[in-house]
Amino acid sequence: MNATDRLTELFMRFPGIGPKQAKRFVYFLLREHSHFKEQLIKALEELKFTGKQCEKCYRFFGDKNAQKAKVLCSICDTNSRDQSLLMVVEKELDLDAVEKTGSYNGLYFILGGLVPPLTDKPSEIIRIRELTNRIHNDIDNKVLSEVIFALPVTDYGDTTTEYIEKTIKQIVGIEKVKLSHLARGLSSGLELEYVDRATFKSALDRRD
Ligand SMILES: [Zn+2]
Repeated sequence: MNATDRLTELFMRFPGIGPKQAKRFVYFLLREHSHFKEQLIKALEELKFTGKQCEKCYRFFGDKNAQKAKVLCSICDTNSRDQSLLMVVEKELDLDAVEKTGSYNGLYFILGGLVPPLTDKPSEIIRIRELTNRIHNDIDNKVLSEVIFALPVTDYGDTTTEYIEKTIKQIVGIEKVKLSHLARGLSSGLELEYVDRATFKSALDRRD
C-alpha cells in the first residue's frame, strides 16, 4: 500500500470522516507546502508522547511535562477554580464549549457517553463509578456543594441524568450535595457543543 492509500485509511478512522473526506484531506496534504507537513508531523510526534487522560475529569489532553506521577489537566490542576461546583458533561467538546464561554469557573466531569433509554447495563456505558467516587471524595474533603448537570435535552440526556441522580441518591445521599440542571433552551434545546456565551450564561444562571 502506498502512502496516499495508507493516509486515506488512517483519516477514515477519525470520527465522522468518510472515504471521500479522507481523500480530500490527502489531496490537501499533497498540495500543501512542506512547512505545513513538518508542523503536522511535529505536532503528532509531540502528541505521541504526551497524550494523557486526566485522573479527575477524564479529559484527554496533551502536556509536555506530563511525566509527573499524578496526571491532572490544567483545569483540575489549579486552585483558582471554584472547587465547590462540579459540572457533568457528556464529552470533551462540551467542556471546551463551556470553557470558551468564559462564564463558568468550577470543575468538570466527563461521562464519556450517554445512556440510551431502556438499557439494562448503564454502568458499562458511562463513567458512573468514577463519578460517584469523585463526588464521595469531594464531599469527604468538604469541597463540593453542587453538581450541575449539563447534558443534552434529548431522551438520551434525560435518561442519563435520571440514572445518575438515582445512583447519587443511593450511594452518596442527596442531602449532602445539591443537584441542579442547566435551564432548558427555548425551543431547540441546548446543544452545548454549539452554545453561545449569552445562551449558556443564561442557562447557567437560571439552573434549578
Ligand atoms: Zn481534569
